Formats: sequence, structure tokens, C-alpha cells
Amino acid sequence: MFALARQTALRRAFSSGLGQQHTRHYASSRRLGRTLALVGAGLGFTAFLVEHPTIHADSNLPQKPESRNSSSDSTSLRSLVRAYVVYSMCSFPTLVDAAPKLLKVLMGIPVVRNITETFVRVTFFDQFVGGDTAQGTLPLLSSFRAANKGVLFSYSIEVDENEATSSNTSSKKKAQPVHKRCVDEMIRSIDVAADFEDSIVGQHARSGRRTWVAIKLTALLPDAQSLIALSSHILATRPQHEPSIPFPGCPRPTDLNVLNTTADSKFLSEKDIASLRELYSDLRRISLRAQERGVKLLIDAEYSWYQPAIDAMQLALMREFNKIPSQGDKSGPIVQPLVYGTFQAYLRRTPLHLAQSYRDAQANNYALGVKLVRGAYHPHEVSAHEAARVHGKQDSLSISPDALPPVWSSKNETDSCYNECVKMVVGWVKDDVRSNSASASSSTSKLSVGRWFYRKDDAKSSGLPNIGVLFGSHNGASVKLILSELLGNGLATSLGVENGEGEAVLKLEDEVIERVTLAQLYGMCDELTDYIVRRTSSNAPMVLNGRFSVCRAVPYGSLTETMPYLSRRAIENKSVLGNGHAAEERRRAGREIWAKVFG
Ligand SMILES: Cc1cc2nc3c(=O)[nH]c(=O)nc-3n(C[C@H](O)[C@H](O)[C@H](O)COP(=O)(O)OP(=O)(O)OC[C@H]3O[C@@H](n4cnc5c(N)ncnc54)[C@H](O)[C@@H]3O)c2cc1C
Repeated sequence: MFALARQTALRRAFSSGLGQQHTRHYASSRRLGRTLALVGAGLGFTAFLVEHPTIHADSNLPQKPESRNSSSDSTSLRSLVRAYVVYSMCSFPTLVDAAPKLLKVLMGIPVVRNITETFVRVTFFDQFVGGDTAQGTLPLLSSFRAANKGVLFSYSIEVDENEATSSNTSSKKKAQPVHKRCVDEMIRSIDVAADFEDSIVGQHARSGRRTWVAIKLTALLPDAQSLIALSSHILATRPQHEPSIPFPGCPRPTDLNVLNTTADSKFLSEKDIASLRELYSDLRRISLRAQERGVKLLIDAEYSWYQPAIDAMQLALMREFNKIPSQGDKSGPIVQPLVYGTFQAYLRRTPLHLAQSYRDAQANNYALGVKLVRGAYHPHEVSAHEAARVHGKQDSLSISPDALPPVWSSKNETDSCYNECVKMVVGWVKDDVRSNSASASSSTSKLSVGRWFYRKDDAKSSGLPNIGVLFGSHNGASVKLILSELLGNGLATSLGVENGEGEAVLKLEDEVIERVTLAQLYGMCDELTDYIVRRTSSNAPMVLNGRFSVCRAVPYGSLTETMPYLSRRAIENKSVLGNGHAAEERRRAGREIWAKVFG
């Protein structure tokens, strides 16, 4: 009954005059008024929750870790109602766009400020953020693992120096720049992830380690503009005779040379060079810790204007930290690949970029780490390219020299590109698994023939993977394609039993699980994650619950600081929540609430 009452209350609240009252008081434009009405409804709904303690377990703030959202309670009535409210609000693009301004207005009004904070915590924060601190997420990690799911851990505070030094910021936090706190927090999260894995699989286990850490480079330096400057420098200094690959092209090992010379660059100031050098040294520090502790690192892809710089750093890190140890060398990492780069299928360059990355890894004897996603910034990429074309580069962040935008123009093209990349990477995994078993069964050193390459067997006899892929997607068709490619390539075998939906359960051996992982964002598409768990059988989790910038947490816990980040991320990630994902999630929560009450 509660659920029905709540749904009815929600519907009423959304259509009632509650929001209109807010409109009259605080909004001058009709557009803002409409969005305020929606938030007002949400606040009214929160008030409703507060009046019903049986369904408002989060009211004792700050929360105890045990009370956080977890996979085991993701189907509780409270979580379902929260998901319903959050995804209802995410289904309104106007509301998402207006959220930062709206929050600023609401946070400036005494009393309303407290209600707003409570509302955001019990809704968006709990839905998308795993915890206030790394330690605080441990119960969540345990509950995911119990459900055979790993976690992609991501601690990044948004770098906004203005806010970081505003009067709201405590003096302790002011003592250290935001990006440095972020680096420290990253290292702390590696330790928390490693301690957790050690407690599950053992300190020296080389396989089955399923708490990984994601890093976002723009959060790790004082001004992300320095990355754009480096990208511009890289584009201007790339040899012109190289085969043309659509912007942002492919990285070259010499891309970072400018950081080690005193040569002048018209794009980079001394300050840029200093902070880029420091960024690279911090990335090495993070990677070293990850190497020592056996925690995989995934570097997020961002807007195309940052990518040449991000690609260059990612290439340098992979070449150093993913090096394949020679026989008998015990000094290398215990997990491989250690560093993964992200490949966005919506970029026209991606199939060529991926193929070149693979060739480079083969030629230089390091393991290639691939995170394959569709890409989160499509609308911004299109508008930035259009603005540069119409109004000139000074009015746009785009630095592409190409006539066509860097991203595909239709969803179908992105989907085909994603599929093509899936097939390419699964083929490489097959080659690697075969070649690895061949070298394990042969005691002599000889040349083995892979589909794309020749390599010496002694480099492979470490038994560690030469390729690893994480497929990040909420698209059911993509997930099914990945599973069928694994089956078709002999990387999975059918157990001949059904998963309850008429589909065969697939058995994946350890050597495949060490190379192939699937992931969804935390708080989104639980149904798909559960489907993968039901369709696969393996000794370690095949699927991770990830965190991407939708939920870039402020790890030091202040909700006041979290809110602007959450709202800005919501805008940045409209393409994650778009394409009907938010509406589908809302409908799913609605169905489950209904089933719980009347089922
Ligand atoms: C674990 C994980 C990690 C992630 N990390 C990153 C990251 O580092 N960097 C990043 O950019 N994104 C990242 N994402 C987000 C990802 O790129 C997608 O935005 C998101 O997953 C939605 O795509 P989909 O495959 O899940 O679903 P779908 O709904 O099938 O695809 C939506 C996507 O299709 C593309 N698209 C939509 N409309 C068009 C159009 N008109 N023309 C061309 N293409 C279109 C866009 O890429 C859009 O995001 C991550 C996602 C996950 C699950």
C-alpha cells in the first residue's frame, strides 16, 4: 500500500500546485518555473518520506555505512522508491539543465536549504554515490561480491578552484589544492580496494581481483586547460605524412617529449608544462601503488579536446606499467594489464585507433588494456564542432581540424562501431588465450603465429594476459553480442542449462575471466547486471558495478560540496541517462514497486 500511496503522492505532487508555489516565489521565467515545480514536487515527496519513518531509513544523517544502497537492498521498497523519484526527475532534460542554478537558489534560502540537502542525500546521492569515504563503501563492496559482482571504484573530486577556495571550504581543505587531494584520495582508494581484495582472494593471488579503480585526468591538475594546450601542441607537431586518422587521431610515443625539453611551444606556457609534468609524475605515483597492490587502473575518456593529451599519457603509462615480464622475472605487476585506456565508439577514429594500439602493444611487448564504451559527451561534441565551424575556434572548445565532427552523426553508426570493436577485441582475446595455452604446453622456445602477429613465446610464458578488455554498456543488445561473440570464439561454453529466460548459461574459464569484464554504472541498469550474473558461470565475477562521472563523489563527505558536482555531472551525462535509459529505469522501479505491494 505504501508504494501505491507513494506513487499516487508522487503523481499528485508533480501535478499539484506545490511546484507552482515555488514558481511564484523564486522564479521569474516560465521555464525555470516549470523545473521548480518538478523539484518542488520532489521536495514535497521527500517531506512525505520524512513523515513515514518506516520507509525512510536514511533519515539519521550522516548514514551508517550499513544503511547505504547495496545490491542486496537494491530491491527494497526504499531503494525502489528512491530509484523511481530519481529517474522520474532525470527524465526531464530541462530539469537536469536547470539543476545547478536551481540548487544554488534553493541552497540560499534558510530552512529550504536543509530540506534540499536532505532531499539530495536520500535521492541522487544515495542512488549514484557509493559512500562518503573509501572505507565507508566497504559494506557495499562486500554485498556486491556476495552477489558475484565486482566494483569499479572511482574517487574524483571535481576540480573547481573557485569553489575550492570559497568561504564554504574548510581551512583544512584549503591547505591543499583540490587536485592534490584528489591524487591522495586516489591512492587511498587503491589501498582500500587492495585490502578488500587481499581479504577475499589472498594477498598474492594473481587472479580474481575484482575491485578496480577509475581515474579521470581532468580532476588531477589545477587547470584542465593545460590538457587542451597539450592536445593542441600534439596536433600541431604530429608528422603530416602519417596516414590520416580522424581527429583526435592516434597517440605517438614522442607526444610527451615537450614535457622533457626546454623547447618553446606556442601552445604551452611554462605553467602548463609544470602542471603537466606534475600530473604525469602523480599518475606514475598512482600506477606504482596500483602495481604494488595488484589493483587495475582504468583511465576515463573525456571530451575530444582533452583526448590527444590523455591518449599520450595513457600510452606512456601502458608502455611502462603493462610491460610483459620475461621468463622468471618476478618484479612485474601481479595483475595484467594494469593500466586500461578508454576507447569511445562514438568517435570516428576508434576502429583505427584500437587497431593501432593493438599493433603498438604487440610490437613493444606490453599488454593492451581496453575499456570500450560508446562515449558520454555526444551532444557537446556536436555543438562544439558546429560552433567552431560557424563562429570560429575562439567561440568553441573544439580543436578538431577536420571538416566532419569527431563523433558519428547517428546512433546507428555508433552502434555499428561498438559492435565492430567488440568483434575485433574478442578476436584478439581468443588469439591471446590460444597462444598462452600453446606456450604453456610447450617447453621449447619457438615462434607462434597469432592471427595478427608473430611473437616470442618466452614473453608469454609469464602466464599473464597480453590483453584485457572491459566492456562498459547498458545496452542489452551489446551485452548479448559480447556473450555470443565469446561463445562463437570458443571463449565460453554452453552449460546446457537455462537461465530461466530460455537462454543457455555460459561457463567462462579463469583465463577468459582474467581478460574479459563487463560493467554498468552504479545505480543504473541493475537488471542488466543481474542478467549477466544469471547468464554466466565463473570462479570470479565477470561483471563490475562501475562509477563514472555521473556520481563523481566528493570523498570528504560534505553533502554541500557534493550537490553542485552531482548536478553538473547529471548535465554532462545526459547521454548516459538519455536514450530512454532514465525512463526505462523509472518504469522498471514502478513495476517492481507494484509487484512488491500487490505481487
Ligand atoms: C563502466 C562504464 C564506464 C564508462 N566510462 C566512460 C568514460 O570513461 N568515458 C565516456 O565518455 N563514457 C563512459 N561511460 C559512458 C558511456 O560512454 C555511455 O555514455 C553510456 O554507457 C551509454 O551508452 P550505452 O552503451 O550504455 O547505451 P546506449 O543507450 O545504447 O547508447 C547511448 C550512447 O549512444 C551514443 N549516441 C547517442 N545518440 C547518438 C547519435 N545521435 N549519434 C551518434 N551516437 C549517439 C552516445 O555515445 C550515447 O551515450 C561509461 C559507461 C560505463 C557503463
